[in-house]
Amino acid sequence: MADQNDAIRVLIVDDELDIREGSERILKRIGYPVHTAARGEEALAYLQQRPAAIVLLDLKMPGIDGMEVLARIQEMESIPLVIVITGYATVETAIKAMKQGAYDFIPKPFEPEQLRIVVNRAAEKIRLTREAKMLEREKVRTLSDLDMEKSRIRTIIEALPDGVIVTNNTGKVVLMNPAFKQLFGLDADVKTGTQIEDYIPDESFCRLVMDISQGKYIDYGDIPDHEFSLGKEKYLRARGQPVLGGKKECLGAVVNFVDITAMKVLDRLKSEFVAKVSHELRSPLATIHEQIAQVLKDMVDSSIPAEQDILSRAKEKTQSLISMIGDLLDLSHIEEGLICHEPQPVQLGELLQNIVDFLGSRAVAKKQSLLLRLPDEPLPPITTDPLALESIFGNLITNAINYTPEGGKIEVAAELAGINIIVKVIDNGFGIADKHIDRIFERFYRVKDEKTRYITGTGLGLPIVKGLVDSLGGMIHVDSAPGEGSTFSVLLPTTAGRSE
Ligand code: ADP
Repeated sequence: MADQNDAIRVLIVDDELDIREGSERILKRIGYPVHTAARGEEALAYLQQRPAAIVLLDLKMPGIDGMEVLARIQEMESIPLVIVITGYATVETAIKAMKQGAYDFIPKPFEPEQLRIVVNRAAEKIRLTREAKMLEREKVRTLSDLDMEKSRIRTIIEALPDGVIVTNNTGKVVLMNPAFKQLFGLDADVKTGTQIEDYIPDESFCRLVMDISQGKYIDYGDIPDHEFSLGKEKYLRARGQPVLGGKKECLGAVVNFVDITAMKVLDRLKSEFVAKVSHELRSPLATIHEQIAQVLKDMVDSSIPAEQDILSRAKEKTQSLISMIGDLLDLSHIEEGLICHEPQPVQLGELLQNIVDFLGSRAVAKKQSLLLRLPDEPLPPITTDPLALESIFGNLITNAINYTPEGGKIEVAAELAGINIIVKVIDNGFGIADKHIDRIFERFYRVKDEKTRYITGTGLGLPIVKGLVDSLGGMIHVDSAPGEGSTFSVLLPTTAGRSE
């Protein structure tokens, strides 16, 4: 306690030198900074200069007496605790002094211990008061900080050019910003508080937001973007994320919307152009290919190995050009929404088994194990387009074989997740570095490094896969680390494939 006393200044006011000096010694020994005054006037003059926390005040002094000093102290800006020293006192004078604002009293003559007790008690009261004031100040500051933080976040959300909505865990909209209202053509004074369907006219997206809000995607990792159109003229890209509480419980979802109409128009023009060029190239290329094949056939007997070799390679090249053009045309069809799905009941387990069997020989050639893992409970049949699924998983498993070294492991696993089915194609191959992950779904994008340089491909497989998954109302997600392998997860709704 003594080490805290140095912050509590004591002023001793008494006309008796012995009392002043004696008290000063006792109090200094227990750490109080002490000043003394022999008369009332001197004490008041001192207090004008330097405030004291405690004043020990003799009531009977020549000049202005203690009562008068006490009265003047009560008018000061910072009022010290006054302990009156009642020399010839009666109980009445002590009571009178207390009524005028004194905090305590000590009768004269007093023992050092008595003085210590009385002054320490006053010091404790001062400390508590100071602490309470500090806590109060801190509380006010914290509250105003919180308030400021809240209003800052609100201002940021309001000013964002992207549309933003926040839902609670029952899918009710609890916050929306002006950009959202503008994107969806809602009145500026539209209120929050009802279900998401009341604001967004896209059933499957609303279902997704509901699922995210209810915590069904907590462990899914990055939830892929969802694109949809509002009428024919506006295209939006939406990204939803769960909002998690302190115990990782789901409190709702936050969704942001970006207007991608301009990008879509450009994309469509590009697709149309690519489709046109591919179309024009296809027939002449096919003719050249056939002619090379014919010449090769005619040359069988008059064999000049060098020429045969050149022609064989030319035939291979034209063949890969023809299949690339086929891929490009497929992709253009998918991107332009011209793909016509024919949904029918599909046993996904069987479909995957057929693809795994078909590609098994390629895996064997690379001494890889290729396994299909299905759940104990058979998967329910799903209504979807089987050709699209064959193309999706054929491409993904082929990639897994291609980008996994000899002796590697590839696993295809399907499981039911709520109302969806998730199929994962897992390999322990080369993996993909972060900087490439976002780009591998772009047309012609191929990762070229030491390990993949000699693997042939067009860079069109994954764009086709993504286009097909989107058109079935599903989602695709990649987890990968260089040197460790990749997992491509495809989420399929159990009823997928719009007939268009
Ligand atoms: P392609 O296989 O014809 O090059 P894709 O569009 O199918 O084209 O794939 C694009 C790129 O993504 C590939 O070139 C490869 O670098 C990378 N990739 C795809 N699948 C895998 C995988 N399972 N493991 C590692 N890299 C992969």
